[in-house]
Amino acid sequence: MLVYKFGGASLNGALAIKNVCQLISASSQNVWVIVSAIGKTTVKLEEIIAFAFNGQPYAEQLKALIEFHSDIIQELFVNNSQIDPLFQKKIKKLEDDLQAHKNTTFSCFYDQIIGYGEGLSALIVQYYLNSTEQRCHFIDAGDIIKTDSRFQEASVYWSETKLCIQKSLNETNSNVILTQGFVGKNADGLQTSLGKEGSDYTAAIIASCSTAESLTVWKDVPGILNADPKVYKSASLIPILSYREAAEMTYFGAKVIHPKTIRPLAQNNIPLYVKSFVDPTLPGTCIDQHERQEKTPTYIKNTNQCLLSFKIKDFQFVHEQTLHIILEKMSSLNIRVNGIQSSALSISIVIDEHMSKIKRLIQYLQEYFDIYANYGLQLLTIINYTARDLLQEQNLTIYLEQKTRSTYQVLYGE
Ligand code: ASP
Repeated sequence: MLVYKFGGASLNGALAIKNVCQLISASSQNVWVIVSAIGKTTVKLEEIIAFAFNGQPYAEQLKALIEFHSDIIQELFVNNSQIDPLFQKKIKKLEDDLQAHKNTTFSCFYDQIIGYGEGLSALIVQYYLNSTEQRCHFIDAGDIIKTDSRFQEASVYWSETKLCIQKSLNETNSNVILTQGFVGKNADGLQTSLGKEGSDYTAAIIASCSTAESLTVWKDVPGILNADPKVYKSASLIPILSYREAAEMTYFGAKVIHPKTIRPLAQNNIPLYVKSFVDPTLPGTCIDQHERQEKTPTYIKNTNQCLLSFKIKDFQFVHEQTLHIILEKMSSLNIRVNGIQSSALSISIVIDEHMSKIKRLIQYLQEYFDIYANYGLQLLTIINYTARDLLQEQNLTIYLEQKTRSTYQVLYGE
């Protein structure tokens, strides 16, 4: 069996959905398809969620979202008498759920709503496939992806999830299975989500638990490039990557696949293909266990970075406990470290510029350290760098620079 994952861009509109369904039907093997929300639906739902939670009006945004989906349905189906009642029912449930946010945390409320994007897109794809005579069996992600209750960043219960996936697979004799990405359910039956852009991860979970032959993530780019083409004009396709290289890239912020995607695939030796849904005849990128001699330098630029410098107050040297105090607090605030360097009397840490979290971190740690913050910086990471790559710009102020044998990082301001 193959696993295919389609993101929001690949499903953006009736024509795009037809193209996706053609790709699915063209497969000579059974396929398990994972879909994201259509286009920018998740971002729009996030806006609605914030308004609803804060008791502000959101009717206009909700209406636009409903119309967006209903226009696609009108365009796709000559006869919508089958899908329409189900669509209306889903919308009614969404409207009711948006009202039901009393006595709950924001994260829990967010997770009860955000999956409607994937739910609607799965409904449309399922009915469109069926209308083209392609039998398609829908399996709800909540029935197979079992998680803890960390809303917005849920962790998967692997053994339970594997059992559910294998059971569903054994009970299905359809050539095409369809599941919505990004969401799961906790033990109380509440919906959880796996973190932003989590549908890639759903696809990797399903591929690994069903021991699929491969996972293909269909994108609007020809494969994985060695830089963001909007930033580097000379960005080029990387045809083959090892799991290790791909994991490094996603960890340092390459946006092409979700960082958690690689591990379950690598553990089960399942190749990951990143291919273009615009031109599926292009070879794309293949990610597998093979390490190659020749390495392509890869450039990843992260903007809006903050450098926090923690200076020791009493001339005690930096030691393990000092690091522990800082890192423990960062972990409790869910702040990810993008870079770290220490000297005798100070520790420098690079993080994303998430103001409310930074404020809380500083408030807590100022008892132990004098803390200095620099904002608006850029972090350039070059994996497999060469001497030629090392930064040569004259008018940049370098705040922090680090090199290992394979990776170079520089934090700078203009
Ligand atoms: N729609 C969700 C998001 O944008 C999940 C996904 O597309 O992977 O984060």
